Amino acid sequence: MSYVFHRMPNRPLPIAVAGDGIEVIDSTGKRYIDASGGAAVSCLGHSHRRVIDAIEKQARQLAYAHTSFFTTEAAEALAERLIKAAPAGLGHAYFVSGGSEAMEAALKLARQYFVEIGEPQRKHFIARRQSYHGNTLGALAIGGNAWRREPFLPLLIDAHHVSPCYAYRGRLAGESDEAYAQRLADELERKILELGADTVAAFVAETVVGATAGAVPPVAGYFRKIRAVCEKHGVLLILDEVMCGMGRTGYLYACEEEGVAPDLLTIAKGLGAGYQPIGATLVSDRIYDAIVSGSGFFQHGHTYMGHATACAAALEVQRVIEKENLLANVAARGEQLRAALRERLGEDPHVGDIRGRGLFVGVELVRERAGKTPFEPHRKLHAAIKREAMARGLMVYPMGGTIDGQHGDHILLAPPFICTPDDIDRIVARLGDAVEAAL
Ligand code: PLP
Repeated sequence: MSYVFHRMPNRPLPIAVAGDGIEVIDSTGKRYIDASGGAAVSCLGHSHRRVIDAIEKQARQLAYAHTSFFTTEAAEALAERLIKAAPAGLGHAYFVSGGSEAMEAALKLARQYFVEIGEPQRKHFIARRQSYHGNTLGALAIGGNAWRREPFLPLLIDAHHVSPCYAYRGRLAGESDEAYAQRLADELERKILELGADTVAAFVAETVVGATAGAVPPVAGYFRKIRAVCEKHGVLLILDEVMCGMGRTGYLYACEEEGVAPDLLTIAKGLGAGYQPIGATLVSDRIYDAIVSGSGFFQHGHTYMGHATACAAALEVQRVIEKENLLANVAARGEQLRAALRERLGEDPHVGDIRGRGLFVGVELVRERAGKTPFEPHRKLHAAIKREAMARGLMVYPMGGTIDGQHGDHILLAPPFICTPDDIDRIVARLGDAVEAAL
């Protein structure tokens, strides 16, 4: 009996009582390696002394001050640090409490920008079928996950969707990266023209797709072509790095690797590393200036935005990543993880694809490899893998989902940036056993 309304009320959960580095410990003393960082959140593991001290210091000094009265040193310092490292043109950070809120702010900023500059007819948002942008109504509307959207369709704004960049399933035989990227950029342009080029506000995409498909990186050059189409038609580019940003791919911002700077960039999960709930929307000077010199006010806001303790935690997370040179470790351990997965699972007839960037890695499972035939949804393979992994003291993030009409099963791995080579070996050994038992 629990008074908590859990995600899945019929499924009893172990009680987490402590964290120790990359492990979570339950009330029976059992340890679980957190190989998914929860959901790509806990990038510094669970008991980082420096972050805990920073939270304590800020909470003692001033836990919270409402942003209509004050700014705080923590918020100012965090924004300065994030913006100085951000892609060109992003000049300000709008702090919220998580990923969905960051996406809502991005959508509203895009819309208000066009109202401010006298193009109020720009109201359409285009996103991709393979995407998740959050569960609040605006973010859910632009997301492409049919199952999550279905019951709420009457409540959602009318968003439009194009094909994802998903080389494993979407690229034609013999098609080059260049040709595939061009085909997708042409599809986006056709959609913009179909809606009326001067009615489209923004195109929204995850730089590296997370939960809906399991760490799917774009092919080389995709985002540069997309950016060019957006610019040609005056459409803003919103990149959602809620999951893949903040160092997860080995770059602080995943779009650095694409050589593309968006107009709006959202971050969350790794920003607070799970020590505090925090997200942010990074805003281009163009949008910021239009609002400041226009109405002078972004018509939005939340009670907990710019929360001082959350900002202090995120600031310390950033300092730790720099001081401990963790982006280099993400790159090295990521290579090791993919290589070890290929060695352990690469020959398995049910493993279709192993992919990802940095410590953001996906394993796609198929019933039949040659035809890339997905498992039947009713098998609920992802649930079986999670169960087998937890039994072996391993947290991973398996998902099943419909992508372009196909049901796909994948496992997302997003271990903490502090993982050692030995930790990676232990993760792969346990995951290999769990997958074999579930299949
Ligand atoms: N965007 C992406 C890419 C995500 O993966 C998520 C959460 O999984 C969100 C947005 C929503 O973030 P939150 O759950 O913090 O609201």
